[in-house]
Amino acid sequence: MDKNGRIDLHTHSFFSDGVLLPSEMLRRADALGYAALAITDHADASNLEEIAVQLVRFYREGLAGFGLTFVPGVELTHVPPEQIAPLACRAKRLGVRLVVVHGETPVEPVAPGTNRAAVECRDVDILAHPGFITEEEAALAAANGVALEISARGGHNMTNGHIARVAQLTGVRLLVNTDTHTPGDMMDQARAWQVARGAGLTEAEAEAALGANPQAVVTRALRPLKRTI
Ligand SMILES: [Zn+2]
Ligand SMILES: [Zn+2]
Repeated sequence: MDKNGRIDLHTHSFFSDGVLLPSEMLRRADALGYAALAITDHADASNLEEIAVQLVRFYREGLAGFGLTFVPGVELTHVPPEQIAPLACRAKRLGVRLVVVHGETPVEPVAPGTNRAAVECRDVDILAHPGFITEEEAALAAANGVALEISARGGHNMTNGHIARVAQLTGVRLLVNTDTHTPGDMMDQARAWQVARGAGLTEAEAEAALGANPQAVVTRALRPLKRTI
């Protein structure tokens, strides 16, 4: 994986509400200098298996000829907090490598308790757009290896400054994701740097959020599996 390439770990294909096929997403990501891309389609108990089968099949069979790392993921979205841990575990057993949870963004009625359920679960890799996450929840995320997201997406990005401050207080790892749904949502490393710095991260923190932190998540996500279906 290119150390200076863009790593984006939260995007949607047309398997949920994105507009692109995975191959076109990878092609466009490659053109923007991406080193790694995760597709994390929206999932709940109704469609988790279908999303897993589609993206894991692509991971196993569809990557020849692409020049970047691909990570098959899901975003558990608006599922009740008590379903997060069992669904995250099920996703990993289905071969999904990255579990993102759709956090308590200020612009949607996400169930209270979603952030907490996500940061308590070791099968969750990233808590996306966590809104006004508390310091206690961020500390739990740090302890359980759950990274927090600085979102480039309009609306979700309203609380980026708060999330940056809580991370500075707790040491939780941050990363910058686009939450891409359409081609224009993808961004190169220079634009992602602006998002990180605009959230209030120092240069060193922004470097970590664009480099070492997402690299560590990808390395963990793609390590050899101990569990199979
Ligand atoms: Zn989301
Ligand atoms: Zn999303």
